Amino acid sequence: MKSIVEFFRTLPKKKCSKCGNSILEKADCYGNVCDECDHPAR
Ligand SMILES: [Zn+2]
Repeated sequence: MKSIVEFFRTLPKKKCSKCGNSILEKADCYGNVCDECDHPAR
């Protein structure tokens, strides 16, 4: 029986759909882009 922590560990990491960098986990729903690509100045 897996713990909930183990469950989240085995989740695939999100990747930015623009640059391909891995996205740090955040609660917000910005879509699938990293902070850099999500930057409003860009
Ligand atoms: Zn990116």
